Amino acid sequence: MIIVRNDEEIDKLREAGRIVGLTHKYLQQFIKPGITTKELARLAKKFILSKGCTCSFEGLYGFPGEICISVNDEVVHGIPSHRKLKEGDVLKLDIGACYKGYHGDSAWTYIVGEGSEKNKKLLKETEEALMAGLGVIHDGCTTGDIGHAVSKVAHKYNLGVVKQLVGHGVGDKVHMEPDVPNYGKERKGPVLHTGNVIAVEPMLNLGTADIYMLDDDWTIKTMDGKPAAHYWTIKTDDGKNSAHFEHTVLVLDDGYEILTRRDVELDPEDIVK
Ligand code: MG
Ligand code: MG
Repeated sequence: MIIVRNDEEIDKLREAGRIVGLTHKYLQQFIKPGITTKELARLAKKFILSKGCTCSFEGLYGFPGEICISVNDEVVHGIPSHRKLKEGDVLKLDIGACYKGYHGDSAWTYIVGEGSEKNKKLLKETEEALMAGLGVIHDGCTTGDIGHAVSKVAHKYNLGVVKQLVGHGVGDKVHMEPDVPNYGKERKGPVLHTGNVIAVEPMLNLGTADIYMLDDDWTIKTMDGKPAAHYWTIKTDDGKNSAHFEHTVLVLDDGYEILTRRDVELDPEDIVK
């Protein structure tokens, strides 16, 4: 069952989403060569707690980090570590915040420093795919409509669409019904209605759509069969870069409302001089 949220729940989802958007904005000032992903995650948690929320992903299914930070060919679920960011890295921050029991979930991809034209193009095209997916949302649309719109953009740019990982319903749990795949057929899949809240999250690759992980859908191992240090992390099979853009949205009669908006204003004291 896809839950229709009441006004009280929507207010909490809106606040959780606002804090997620704000956390993205806050972290951008620290995205520079030399910072470790662990430090970024620490700053994220401190900020999220200061806004009266908790980190949705911390401990979720046992995840050992505050937010997910994936770099270059890592698709998702990267564990914050002592890895230092380098000029030109493709950095994915997937942030979840929980406010009074309700969650917001948004991933965004950034380039550390300048970056190559190829990577900048990947980011622009993946964001376009996200917006195309959101663009078909209204009361009565289907998850297939969304997946179709996302994959149409991906195919236009010849990007690999990760199929094993999907968007999802969001509410009093981070991951709820329905699955929202980044592929599909128009008019197929569960029907969405006004008051449903979902996360749409294309993960698009410069090369193959294939990703490398074990049968349990979470763990990966290196090619020599030994468990990798970052056993949560999912990588592209060919080592090419991947981008990930995600918003949590509320379905409306004639469209959608982005709950994890990015045009939110930071308090002056949250800006590091
Ligand atoms: Mg996410
Ligand atoms: Mg998500």
